[in-house]
Amino acid sequence: SLTLGIVGLPNVGKSTMFNALTNNDVLAANYPFATIEPNVGVVPLRDPRLDRLSAMFSSEKVVPATVSFVDIAGIVAGASEGAGLGNKFLANIREADAICQVVRVFTDDDVVHVDGRVDAAADIETIATELVLADLQTVEKAVPRLEKESRMQKDRRAVLEEVQKAATILNEGRTLFSAGMNSPALRELNLLTVKPFLYVFNADEGVLTDDARRKELAELVAPAEAVFLDAKVEQELLEIDDESAAELLESIGQTEPGLDALARAGFRTLGLQTYLTAGPKESRAWTIPVGATAPEAAGVIHTDFQRGFIKAEIVSYDDLVAAGSMNAAKNAGKVRMEGKEYVMQDGDVVEFRFNV
Ligand code: GDP
Repeated sequence: SLTLGIVGLPNVGKSTMFNALTNNDVLAANYPFATIEPNVGVVPLRDPRLDRLSAMFSSEKVVPATVSFVDIAGIVAGASEGAGLGNKFLANIREADAICQVVRVFTDDDVVHVDGRVDAAADIETIATELVLADLQTVEKAVPRLEKESRMQKDRRAVLEEVQKAATILNEGRTLFSAGMNSPALRELNLLTVKPFLYVFNADEGVLTDDARRKELAELVAPAEAVFLDAKVEQELLEIDDESAAELLESIGQTEPGLDALARAGFRTLGLQTYLTAGPKESRAWTIPVGATAPEAAGVIHTDFQRGFIKAEIVSYDDLVAAGSMNAAKNAGKVRMEGKEYVMQDGDVVEFRFNV
């Protein structure tokens, strides 16, 4: 499955947030046999639609979609030259599908900042610079080879040109993602900064309740997503009952746990969406890439479903809820038969027809 790699400078709250990510009970409840690596945190994508469906179909259980985060320890300035865990660190990031940087914006004199001051913009710059430098090394090594290849093979010319464009952007100190560069031609170099970025601002109450400050920080990282949370509070929320949790959130001006917002932002950053299935056994959300067709969506349940796909019986969630039951939705003409070309929409409630 797709994962976001968590990075950040030391002492910004990565471990605290990661502990909160791994302390949730979604795995124990729904994936009892999953073997999970110690550095992988799996977060449920909270979805009120599932509860509604579960009530409508009297489902025995509810299975939400999940997002995975990998804890990638060890970036410091100089990582691209091998400082700290340098090369191992970069290899781990290469395996992630997107990069999630935790940025400290909380103030606490007892927690030392590695560079002696809390400065979000500078921290973001420090990490970006290391990744940009690592990509520059990759690109500079590739250019002479691609020049040689493109003299022999015409179709290598396009790759060379893309890589040269990338080199220009990297030399300006910009990430390829922020420059909107993600052409298939670049894929073979397995570059780091083409990956989508997502930022988590580890904040205290002062920042969480200050809309202007949040806006300023969000603009700093746009078009990447920005999530605001207090890692220590997230950890606490998991240890108390729902009522106390709601009070605690309200006291810091929040309407939901930051981890819920993080799961949603992670989903969007990875380009994912969900469709739903519902029945007496379970109501469940299934993860597909935005733009997936009906047979591709069926394949997420079982490869046989994709191979033997005939058609999909689909009703959009809102229509189903408005009708009140599947039969009522059918009678109202809201249940559609869709074929192989159909592009799935978020919130489609689906039953697949297939040959085995
Ligand atoms: P890491 O090095 O990035 O993994 O950072 P840690 O999670 O180990 O946190 C470093 C220190 O900052 C620890 O003492 C945490 O308790 C503290 N810390 C983490 N998050 C917060 C926060 O949101 N507010 C405050 N005040 N302290 C935090």
